[in-house]
Amino acid sequence: MSADQISRRGFLGTGATAGAGLLWTSAMGGCALPAGGRVVTPHSAESGKAKNIIFLVADGMNTGTWTLADYWLQNQQNKRTEWVNLYAEQLVHRSLMETCSANSLVTDSAAAGSSWSCGQRINNGAINFDPDGNSLVTIHDRIKKSGRSTGLVTTTRMTHATPATFASSVSNRGMEDEIALQYLNNGVDVLLGGGARHFSAQTRKDGEDLFGKYKASGYQVLQTRNELLAPNRQSSDKILGTFWQTHLPYSIDWNQQPKIAQRVPKLSEMMRVALKSLDRNPNGFLLQVEGGRVDHAGHGNDPGAIVHDQLAFDECIKVALEFSQENPETLVVVTTDHGCGGCQLNGVGASYVDTDSTFYEGIGAIRASYEYLKNQHKALPREEFRDLVEELIQLSLTEAQIDTLDEHKDGLYEVSNYLRKWHDPFKRTGVNFTSSNHTGEFVELSSWGPGSGSFNAWIKNTDVNQVIRKVLELS
Ligand SMILES: [Zn+2]
Repeated sequence: MSADQISRRGFLGTGATAGAGLLWTSAMGGCALPAGGRVVTPHSAESGKAKNIIFLVADGMNTGTWTLADYWLQNQQNKRTEWVNLYAEQLVHRSLMETCSANSLVTDSAAAGSSWSCGQRINNGAINFDPDGNSLVTIHDRIKKSGRSTGLVTTTRMTHATPATFASSVSNRGMEDEIALQYLNNGVDVLLGGGARHFSAQTRKDGEDLFGKYKASGYQVLQTRNELLAPNRQSSDKILGTFWQTHLPYSIDWNQQPKIAQRVPKLSEMMRVALKSLDRNPNGFLLQVEGGRVDHAGHGNDPGAIVHDQLAFDECIKVALEFSQENPETLVVVTTDHGCGGCQLNGVGASYVDTDSTFYEGIGAIRASYEYLKNQHKALPREEFRDLVEELIQLSLTEAQIDTLDEHKDGLYEVSNYLRKWHDPFKRTGVNFTSSNHTGEFVELSSWGPGSGSFNAWIKNTDVNQVIRKVLELS
């Protein structure tokens, strides 16, 4: 069944759904009937066992980031984000989660994801590996043992920390070539994201052709959006799709640049393909979906990039909602692993009355990420680059400024950082950041479906592991 079919059937509450006794109405008590007649899992099911789990992570999401995305969507499309609607319509359990790692109040994604996956707090930088050098059992391995399938979908490199924590174990998150090999050996069924460089013989340090090895193990190996979405693509239980050498481009650039959109699928498109494949297993599945570049836009203090990647992630909540309406034996979790950058909308002007116009006009005027412009600086002649920056972010670069960029053209972040400094997004949008680092606040965790009642209002990140194991009856 196509995702569109799922959507129509789910929202119409057809016989199949209603027959399962899951069309929730106000007459049944408990939750109020949500606007638009959405189908809601009744409370009685929330203590039950789940067949499937969909785990959605907006990596490095400050609550301020979510707020920006919601205000921007209201301004542009007169609607709220899916995540806000979950709360507004009382569709979910709501928890506040403490995110510390073993050696810091401020975690990184490796330790954070590992706390969910292996149930222990470990040191920043490690993936399911304790400080004594012991490899720890991952949630992937427990899921596999139960006969279910597994999928990892991300906008980062496939081998980046968050997906890696679900299905691999290494002493250092930088061992991405090794992680790519572990996915194959551990039998992850569906892998969709960026990071082709860790699978290709040309770019792996050991020269091994992992694409060939995956193919030989029965994987459909894909490299473009067209291949992924082709109507005549044969369904497959095993898929490896890597659509960019490194992290996938930011959504703001996907929206603006047809060349990127031709090549790279959206996060929600990859998620739909993964669901279709994983749902073939009658025993159920684990699907982890990461909006990984929300975190990167936080590190880069890039308000344009952060708003659009948060919205791209938000579309996945709708996909999960539709799927769980059709498949009520599905536990869905929506959360983040930590904050990043301290992203916030700040009041502008006397009594803050210039805030709204500054934010809406400022965000609307930004049509590229600093990362995209950095890449174009390398690729384009000087004059063309200057015109592009003027066109996409309304920054008029001086000759001296372009000279400065040229001096730093081989650096990883210098060009982006200079562009941001000169662009001054705080002045243009009211959005400001407390740092380029991760932050230590408590974060939101939303859940619905069977077993979601096991998420208490206050949890530690390691509690997630306990709940998943209980609800999916894992060893
Ligand atoms: Zn980060």
